[in-house]
Amino acid sequence: MHLRYLILAILLAMVGVVGAQETEKKPNIVFIFSDDHAWQTISAYSDKLMKTPNFDRIAKDGIVFKNAYVPNPICGPSRANVLTGKYSHANHYYRNGTEPFDVSQWTFPKEMQSAGYDTAIIGKWHLGNEAVPPGFNYSLVLVGQGAYYNPTFIEDPKGDGNRERIQITGYATDVITDRSLDWLKKQRAQDPDKPFMLMLQHKAPHRPWMPALRHLDAFENDTIPEPPTLFDDYEGMPRAARLADMRIADTMNDNDLKLKRMAGLNDEQRAVWDAKYGPRNEAFRKMNLKGKDLVRWKYQRYVKDYMRCILAMDENIGRVLDYLDEANLTKDTIVIYCSDQGFFMGEHGWFDKRWIYEESLRTPFMVRWPGHTPPGTVSKDIVSVIDFAPTFLDIAGQPIPADVQGRSLLPLLNGKTPDDWRKSFYYHYYEYPGWHSVRKHYGVVDGRYKLAYFYEMDMQEWLLVDLEADPLEQRNFYNDPKYADVQQRLHAELEKLRADLKVPEKDPKESYPVGEPY
Ligand code: CA
Repeated sequence: MHLRYLILAILLAMVGVVGAQETEKKPNIVFIFSDDHAWQTISAYSDKLMKTPNFDRIAKDGIVFKNAYVPNPICGPSRANVLTGKYSHANHYYRNGTEPFDVSQWTFPKEMQSAGYDTAIIGKWHLGNEAVPPGFNYSLVLVGQGAYYNPTFIEDPKGDGNRERIQITGYATDVITDRSLDWLKKQRAQDPDKPFMLMLQHKAPHRPWMPALRHLDAFENDTIPEPPTLFDDYEGMPRAARLADMRIADTMNDNDLKLKRMAGLNDEQRAVWDAKYGPRNEAFRKMNLKGKDLVRWKYQRYVKDYMRCILAMDENIGRVLDYLDEANLTKDTIVIYCSDQGFFMGEHGWFDKRWIYEESLRTPFMVRWPGHTPPGTVSKDIVSVIDFAPTFLDIAGQPIPADVQGRSLLPLLNGKTPDDWRKSFYYHYYEYPGWHSVRKHYGVVDGRYKLAYFYEMDMQEWLLVDLEADPLEQRNFYNDPKYADVQQRLHAELEKLRADLKVPEKDPKESYPVGEPY
């Protein structure tokens, strides 16, 4: 070959290679996941309680999903939904505090590794065991629920199963972010051409809502607005509502309310903590509050501490976004924020979650993907935590296994909802008997209506909600003649979903507490 042609051929080949790399370049994924985050405390969702400028940065530059539902709103099961893309009855992780999640079943992280991603999970794990599923190049996960101060982690530095415990001084939300940024910087230094997937999972704002020391004064002189249902009498709601043990009035304990010595602080931290809470607690005791005044005080203490935890999360999300900007990674990185479920901020007098009601069923979920997701999008499409696994596989160019029950969000993130996108969603909560005594129920939701069935032998009762007529969800329209058509339609939809999803007629043994008669 003539030298001139040879050079031309080489040049063309190089252009071809560069071109191929360009089209094949996979986006990085930063998946920020939290525990028990009420969407009522993110200003992109509601401006009633507080401002969250950094959460709102994701919303402003990306998409906010207003109807993001969880199939089973408690910590471990929701995490299992994320990892498998499946409902609890399909991944067999129904409740907290039972047999650990079976990490030998199919989960998505190893597929990301196969697709060429460097992967890490840093922060909360909480699936009843110390071993994360295969597929992480690095893991640093909290032991159990994890502590707010000076948390102990299990580190697997090489992702080869050689794990050790380490305790890190500091505040959990800061520490988890520090370690995540360290990992990102190291990954960029070592393998800048490889895409990464980081699962950054906060402990906050889980009970007992311990804020960072720098936020102990925040909101202190404010009076936080009370929800209109703080003193709900549960008249008109299912019997199960009255039987639930999750009221601010009488379930919240001295640890929740910071009225006792808090565990886990070192001497230096405790001195700062006690200097703030000590005088406040003394003033509270002198007031000798009773009845509704006492409930109001507890509400203020609870919501302020909770929102202080959100302040640290907001700051730390800002740190991650700033790093992506500084490292010139923003345009190639999908940033996702989501919680494992929502949380009650005093609605119906409650804290905690577990219910098909909006505060618990709906989780905050927002995504930023520059060049793909149109900025400032607000979506009412029904999406769920079971959609993450198929979405990540789709992004990575991996096939989605047929038994995955979620669906890739890629078209929605690209601004186009498919015509056949889901219009309804199946829900199923199992953890009874258990913490907070919320009765088992399953149901269907469609954005406006909900039909739910409390199905235990002593509790059988149907609930029909119409969010338009009753946004505070204090009534039950079941068997109301005006809703006959809606009721019939939802019954049919519920049966169809249960059949399509292959929900067992009788709850399997694994859904019961260990030792419980079956
Ligand atoms: Ca949770």
